[in-house]
Amino acid sequence: MKVLYLTSSSFSGSTLLAFLLNAHPEITTVSEMIGWQYGQDEIFDCSCGKALPDCPFFRNIARAFQENGIPFDFRQFGTGYSLVGSETLNRYLTECLPLIRNSPLERVRDALVMAVPTFAKTLKQQDFANRTFINTALKYSHSSVFIDASKDPHRMRHLSRINEFDLRVLYLVRDPRGVSRSTMKTRKWDAARAIEWWIRDQQNILRISTEFSSVLPIYYEDLCDAVDDTLGEIHRFVDLQAETFCGDFMASEHHILGNSMRLTGQSNIQKNERWREELSRSDINTITGALNDFVAKNPQHKLSAIITRYLN
Ligand SMILES: [Zn+2]
Repeated sequence: MKVLYLTSSSFSGSTLLAFLLNAHPEITTVSEMIGWQYGQDEIFDCSCGKALPDCPFFRNIARAFQENGIPFDFRQFGTGYSLVGSETLNRYLTECLPLIRNSPLERVRDALVMAVPTFAKTLKQQDFANRTFINTALKYSHSSVFIDASKDPHRMRHLSRINEFDLRVLYLVRDPRGVSRSTMKTRKWDAARAIEWWIRDQQNILRISTEFSSVLPIYYEDLCDAVDDTLGEIHRFVDLQAETFCGDFMASEHHILGNSMRLTGQSNIQKNERWREELSRSDINTITGALNDFVAKNPQHKLSAIITRYLN
């Protein structure tokens, strides 16, 4: 099974890219594939317009899980890697260690986790849930490439355990000033915190991506400015024939979870560069200062090349 994993920071345009890629007849994606924790009384709609439990695509997935004896919940598909109830503790066990960003130490941690029989069993079940989900989605849509746009780089490591997957990595980057503006607005953070988070997140993505032999970096701005060239590059990266964008990414069947963009009815590409008007001079100075500091301290780091590309 060919699986393309889209990793990026939040607010980098991954939902837009998921819609655009889903339009290729050989590609299928639901964007983020671990589920969406909507409230008990809330009706959560799939991008196809149906409430999730009524969507034919997700009903089909639920049936396949039932047939394979795996529990399925429309809020949480069972495909996320989760070992304990506490979110923080789970992060230490399956994602980042507290304060430490170090791959060899994370590998030691992974080996220790695997040595605990109940954890190993749970991870195996979650691997099986991912295989079942992706296999069922590909069959339903008669496609050959599945895209998981869950973004989190640590999830790639878990998926790489699954022998049936031919896993490749798509790394989507957006202007850090644009990401910061969205982060500040959504999370009510100040500029310093927003850019600090982006730098740390990007370092994690780049660090973990080096463990994969097949990584394609894509810039959000290129996607908007030269959509056919950019999509063609991604299509060829997964050995497909390049297809041009038909101008309406809602035209093909889609069952995409993710941000509210899935329901706005927007079907063309609108490049979001509102940060240019909405960020104050002082916020821009804070963000640019932090980025320049990083480059000065880490001139050889891959992230420095990305930052320089944006600031120059
Ligand atoms: Zn649907």
